[in-house]
Amino acid sequence: MSVLEAKITELQEAAAKQGDVVRSLKAHAKDGKADKAEVEAAIAQLQEIKLDLDAKQKEFEKTTGKVSSQSKEAFRAALTNLLERRLFYIPSFKIYGSVAGFYDYGPPGCAIKQNLTQAWRQHFVLEENMLEVECPAVTPEVVLKASGHVDRFTDYMVTDLKTGDPYRADHLVEGHLEALLEDTKAPLPAAEKREVKDLLAGVGEMDGAALGALITRFGIKAPDTKNDLSPPFPFNLMFKTSIGPKGDMVGYLRPETAQGIFVNFRDLLYYNGSKLPFAAAQIGNSYRNEISPRAGLLRVREFTQAEIEHFVNPDDKSHPKFASVAKLEPLLYSRELQMGEEKRPKPVALGDAVARGTIANETLAYFIGRTWLLFGRLGVDLKRMRFRQHLQHEMAHYAEDCWDAEVETTYGWVECAGLADRSAYDLRAHTAMSKTELNAYEKFTEPREVEVTTVTPNKKELGLGFKRDAKAVADALEALGEEDAMCLKSDLDAGKPGKVVVDGKAVQVTAPMVEIKRQQKRLAGRNFIPSVIEPSFGIGRILYCVFEHSYYTREGDEARAVLRFTPLVAPVKATVFPLVQKEQLNALATKISASLTAAGLSNLIDTTGNTIGKRYARTDEIGVPFAVTVDFQALENASVTLRERDSTAQIRVPIADVATLIRRLVDSATTWEDAAAEYPAVAKAAAEEQQ
Ligand code: AMP
Repeated sequence: MSVLEAKITELQEAAAKQGDVVRSLKAHAKDGKADKAEVEAAIAQLQEIKLDLDAKQKEFEKTTGKVSSQSKEAFRAALTNLLERRLFYIPSFKIYGSVAGFYDYGPPGCAIKQNLTQAWRQHFVLEENMLEVECPAVTPEVVLKASGHVDRFTDYMVTDLKTGDPYRADHLVEGHLEALLEDTKAPLPAAEKREVKDLLAGVGEMDGAALGALITRFGIKAPDTKNDLSPPFPFNLMFKTSIGPKGDMVGYLRPETAQGIFVNFRDLLYYNGSKLPFAAAQIGNSYRNEISPRAGLLRVREFTQAEIEHFVNPDDKSHPKFASVAKLEPLLYSRELQMGEEKRPKPVALGDAVARGTIANETLAYFIGRTWLLFGRLGVDLKRMRFRQHLQHEMAHYAEDCWDAEVETTYGWVECAGLADRSAYDLRAHTAMSKTELNAYEKFTEPREVEVTTVTPNKKELGLGFKRDAKAVADALEALGEEDAMCLKSDLDAGKPGKVVVDGKAVQVTAPMVEIKRQQKRLAGRNFIPSVIEPSFGIGRILYCVFEHSYYTREGDEARAVLRFTPLVAPVKATVFPLVQKEQLNALATKISASLTAAGLSNLIDTTGNTIGKRYARTDEIGVPFAVTVDFQALENASVTLRERDSTAQIRVPIADVATLIRRLVDSATTWEDAAAEYPAVAKAAAEEQQ
């Protein structure tokens, strides 16, 4: 830690202590046990410390270009404390000591998660006419065998050789390399720094041997005990279970929702009038037995995914609505920029990115643009969001192009969504395993002359040769792909017997049993396996990023926490306060609250009689954007005040307009600025916000 960082920590502690002093003096002043001058002196001292702290933090940011790690940790600790205290989320099974990687959402957490999911659904499913499905989480083994998850859905694990404690190998290596780069006491020479940066960029895709080599090279030990580590070995992340009382059918909790869509492809295509392109979507929980869950909601073992599978003709990945996003300029962190010297993303118009071939096709770029728009609406700071392209070796062999939507948080850059062109891999894999054709048909605009291979089994000869198995052999011959059929033909033409695989076993066929011909044919259309473009979102991760980007403390003598949620996602849209405890005001407040509820606006009514300042502070903490105060004027001219959370500005609105106005503000049909121009401003009592 540098001298400057140590000073920042010291000032943070001093500010926290002085904050306590101010709070206690204020309480005593109310009881007459402390005088005003004493309180003011303590406030002045607190402000001095804060100014000093602010200057030191700015100096640190200026000299290093980074936010200090203590500021990050202090920020995160304060935010997490607020989120857990106000029950946004809570570690699950807390009274039994909790289990890592599981969280319960409390009342405001459920509401905001629901709002966010609903916004996603509106933005994609409804606006794009997607076909929504809901499939079971318990999935039979065969499905996940076909998709490759049974064999390959693994992370590399290492264990502490003495305690047996598990760690994720890539995370340990990443952490070590990051620490090397950030070490200000023993800075790396320039050439080594470059090498470490390159290694760091590739860690996520290294295999066990490569990770093991780095663990040995850098002498990485178990972080908690400093003991030696085992070599990395693969660990499958799926939760295994058995289906049915006999327990003889293996199943898994799905590790992603996507497979449910692929296995329904045939029916969905038919539902869509056999037309491409179309997209299907699913929102639901997925399960991954993460090796070392950490970072709160970011890496958990049960989480809500929202996934889209957009099926297209592989020869035409244009998108009819691409023009609507072509001019957007999200920060793109292309492969080229990642491997370059600067390692910084750049804003690029999506139209240019497709034209230059940086993004493989319009459909993928379209979803990048739509994702960017959605994140902005949800309250993510778009200056701290980038799309990072997977490096070539990072992509599965079948993938054409992949981009992750990443958001910067105090944990670093967090992948909130993955957008990938997965070619025809998934449908091909399920076709092979299920023996069900997952094809689409394309009618050519003009018939085409093509050379095709036809395979005609000779049933009589097959019957003589294979008796009861003749039909299975005939089916296998008919199902031969172009290449396999030509191999068989060349063997048979050379007078040799040929081989065909029936139910996993190779059987020999002879020339009289089958006729294989190359023919010119006039085709009106063709069958093909569609490509799929998959945007896959983690709702909990987006939510956490929204929390971080929304949190701030209001200027003033004490830290007052505010969550700056957009009205769209805010868990509670408005609070209704009677100014003082009075029957008539309470009755009116209850009526207004009912009118908000009837307009579909979640609201809280607070008749506790606390000072208005205290009531605002409590609702700012859960991010309520609007507060209705029922004052005495309400009884005279049926109007109330409406306060906007961030500006703390207030306007006076007729009671008859309140519900409609808040509805319009929540739906973005109007802005606060427009409302403030339409209704008279209320000069707030200077002390009101500070009480
Ligand atoms: P993936 O299939 O690994 O690309 O994951 C798709 C999305 O699911 C990611 O972009 C994340 O937003 C989310 N996700 C994946 N793993 C987790 C996890 N362990 N906890 C929370 N969200 C996750």
